[in-house]
Amino acid sequence: MSLSLSAAPASAPAEAADGVWLECIECGETYAPFEEVRYTCGECGGLLEVRYAEPPTFAEFSGEGVWRYAETLPLDAGVSVREGATPLYEVPRLEESVDLEALRIKHEGMNPTGSFKDRGMTVGVAVARELGVDRLACASTGNTSAALAAYGARAGMETLVLLPAGKVAAGKVGQAALHDARILEVDGNFDACLDVVRELADRGEVYLLNSLNPFRLEGQKTIGLEILEEFRDDYGAWPDRIVLPVGNAGNTSALYKAFRELVQAGALEPDEVPKLTGAQAAGAAPMVEAVENGSEEIRRWEDVETRATAIRIGNPVNAPKALPGIRETGGTAVAVTDDEITAAQRELAREGIGVEPASAASLAGLRKLREDGVVAADERVACLTTGHLLKDPDAAAAAGNEPEPVPADTDGVLAHLAGD
Ligand SMILES: *Cc1c(COP(=O)(O)O)cnc(C)c1O
Ligand SMILES: [Zn+2]
Repeated sequence: MSLSLSAAPASAPAEAADGVWLECIECGETYAPFEEVRYTCGECGGLLEVRYAEPPTFAEFSGEGVWRYAETLPLDAGVSVREGATPLYEVPRLEESVDLEALRIKHEGMNPTGSFKDRGMTVGVAVARELGVDRLACASTGNTSAALAAYGARAGMETLVLLPAGKVAAGKVGQAALHDARILEVDGNFDACLDVVRELADRGEVYLLNSLNPFRLEGQKTIGLEILEEFRDDYGAWPDRIVLPVGNAGNTSALYKAFRELVQAGALEPDEVPKLTGAQAAGAAPMVEAVENGSEEIRRWEDVETRATAIRIGNPVNAPKALPGIRETGGTAVAVTDDEITAAQRELAREGIGVEPASAASLAGLRKLREDGVVAADERVACLTTGHLLKDPDAAAAAGNEPEPVPADTDGVLAHLAGD
């Protein structure tokens, strides 16, 4: 199986450029990385992965942010707005209430446009430039469009974003608009938007920057590399588990790939790889269904609903890469209700960490797995929070305290505070 954790590094095929090539995860067909636009396998339609003749070790990393890890990426430099190097927060009260040896929050909302999508775009938009395309596009539940708009603007390229009408949080639409993307509001859900933009890409009209694009996932690997280095520096140990919200399962695939490459390089033992644990909203949980059924395949959910709009996805395109990652690392997947998500969002906010609803699914899922005894008390866990609170101001206002009307005089304010 090509995605097994302990597979030996492959030798470079004739198509490789500087030891980098694209390879189909289903049939093994290989392709030159930068000569033609290609998202999936021409032979079998399978997902592609970027492969390297020589996966790097920790000793080769220097600098800060995504490009610290240039040795793990297909290019030496990207279109950058200084992405990555996000904080890994201590949360002592949460650590105690969830009851864990160690709990840290990796807050990806602290990226330039407020989500981890920036890590993928710094690489993906640079590859687009390398390929010489002139129009970028994505389907999005919001954050991908915000990131693509910003990185497309940075690169001086035309950008189209396809959004499900009425289902994208206000902050995200505002970002895409101001960063000068053309916003196409589709009368359908995210999965329908992706179907359309894939067809536009197949017809050569746009360059696709959804997580189906294998180069984007390369940038997102750096989340896993940062977590490992930060845990090692703080605890002298790797984390036992990483819990993350799952939509299209791009991050799950990317983190697994980062760890596989470290194992191939001899920098990590297979049994040291953190257990990848996905959290989905109960109203959009096809990955959880597949993991629970022990299935290799995903059943597309046609009707999905959750207030965590960033993970309102019924057909996770990266499932064939992510399911082996969850299985081979000994992880699992868990579904949480919208009320559990909101409760976790409030708990994080009370530790000073402001996240959008989808991000809180990781903590909500961790709490549930801990209560069920799936996660043990002696584990060291990193929870990924994927997007910033300001992305979805309406959800924040609904989950937080009600404003209290008071008169415009001090005695009146004091009387109000005294409860008169
Ligand atoms: C994109 C996104 C996700 C889903 O990530 P996948 O890699 O598609 O699983 C989760 N949370 C937020 C905030 C996102 O923007
Ligand atoms: Zn193939």
